[in-house]
Amino acid sequence: MKPHASRASESSHPSPGLPSGQPVGHVIVGGGPAGLAPLLAASRSGRLQALLAAGLVVVDQQAGIGFGNIGRYVINSDSSAETFLSCLVGNPEPRLAALIDHPTARAMSLYGRGAVPLYLVANLMELVGEVLTAIIGAQPGCRVMTRHAAISTRQTADGGWETRLRCLGSGAETVLASRSVLLATGGWQPVPLLDDKIVAGVPLLSTYADRLVQSDQVLSAQGRAAIARRLSAHADPRIVVVGGSTSAMSCARVLMEIVSEQNGRTPVTVLHRRPMSVFYASVEQAGADGYDDFTDEDICPVSGFVHRFGGLRFDSRTLLMGLLGLGDRPADPRVRLQRLGDEASDRAVLDGATLIVAALGYRPRALPVLDVSGQALSLNAERPDGALVGEGCGVLDSWGDEIPGLFGIGLAAGYRPGGRLGGEPSFKGQVNGLWVWQNDVGALIADRMTEVEANYRISRIMSGGATAPEARGADRASGRARGRRDLWSAA
Ligand SMILES: Cc1cc2nc3c(=O)[nH]c(=O)nc-3n(C[C@H](O)[C@H](O)[C@H](O)COP(=O)(O)OP(=O)(O)OC[C@H]3O[C@@H](n4cnc5c(N)ncnc54)[C@H](O)[C@@H]3O)c2cc1C
Repeated sequence: MKPHASRASESSHPSPGLPSGQPVGHVIVGGGPAGLAPLLAASRSGRLQALLAAGLVVVDQQAGIGFGNIGRYVINSDSSAETFLSCLVGNPEPRLAALIDHPTARAMSLYGRGAVPLYLVANLMELVGEVLTAIIGAQPGCRVMTRHAAISTRQTADGGWETRLRCLGSGAETVLASRSVLLATGGWQPVPLLDDKIVAGVPLLSTYADRLVQSDQVLSAQGRAAIARRLSAHADPRIVVVGGSTSAMSCARVLMEIVSEQNGRTPVTVLHRRPMSVFYASVEQAGADGYDDFTDEDICPVSGFVHRFGGLRFDSRTLLMGLLGLGDRPADPRVRLQRLGDEASDRAVLDGATLIVAALGYRPRALPVLDVSGQALSLNAERPDGALVGEGCGVLDSWGDEIPGLFGIGLAAGYRPGGRLGGEPSFKGQVNGLWVWQNDVGALIADRMTEVEANYRISRIMSGGATAPEARGADRASGRARGRRDLWSAA
């Protein structure tokens, strides 16, 4: 499967209307699928122009916005084509609604409720990014700055933010002043993660450094090719994937393809800690397939879905169903599951491996966040499993308190579903998906950014011109409660 190739030119997209040094309402750092989600959510509720009215800048180090990194992966989606297209259907913004007739959207709609290759998702999101670039650029005080990397963001004495940017072309630095900042910088797989989690009694990195790779590498086009070359040196390589998520099963699929191409015979072993769950649209459908590995706690009260957020979907689900013998699906002999528990046997599998793939998840990339005096603020996300954001999508400091005016969204940000969104009560993970971001989460963030701007204006009026820091403090105190209320009131 081919990766996404951006059509964006290598130049930035300066637009008129942003006098240098003038503060704007909002800065979005990272114009990937998540960074654009609040804009899409606002467009769907007819509030995009209100959000832009305060002045808004989207910053991304790539040559265009919208596609982010999702098109790097040579696998199919784990959400349906319909969910990707839903941000366009009936959108009150005519240029976004019109995209539904674009050949890319038409190609995607052929997949209906099925999975789509991720490069197609990136192609669609690139189109969305182009339209939003035009809309943003036409609004006074708004701008899309591509080929610019944000280096840090610093609180200002009046409760706002200054984000330092570097132009990747010229190396010139600029500072953007704003009332709020949204961190949408995506996720990554830090190497220390490999030693933080002990598998079969040993730290993975220090024990198996010579044969260890991360799932992100396996799932990308370049990484797949490099791994295929590496495995071709072995007649019958032994491959172990560590992890029990969608990524782990996607890796198993990619690797079994490589092994088959090279005539290997030994199945790829997936070493997983917890039982892997299968998504079902209803209890009845699960029963019809003979699947009973769930309790009431695994059923979403809103949708009735079984393992709504924690269950595997699409290609990974099909693979798992076969391995579990569900619904008369044949098991793929090229993959086997082994539940971690018997340390000696688990260790033997790892010791005998030619290649070990760690599919242990992502951490938020974020940015250095500085306080008024320029000192680094320590974030909750710096703790081993700490989330970047709380339930109101505000970025959390190391005390677990929201940092006023600073929001986060996207891969590995740590958003946990609740309220109207539902989800199975047993689900303790985070939700990473375009649909959720473009709906409840994006709407919540757009509301909160608008609210920050409104509070700023009120405090300016009340203080006769200057913004009172106390007003920002009040925003902080009520932040989490407000986040909850907004989410629920969206019902
Ligand atoms: C293997 C895999 C498969 C997935 N499949 C699906 C799926 O099927 N369906 C689904 O809904 N979701 C899926 N996701 C989850 C998610 O939708 C994608 O990971 C998506 O790409 C995340 O979007 P993002 O904007 O958070 O991050 P990214 O796509 O990584 O975008 C981040 C953007 O921020 C920019 N950036 C980062 N740092 C800076 C900086 N300092 N300055 C300026 N710009 C910066 C980057 O250039 C990039 O454009 C998948 C994730 C993975 C890993």
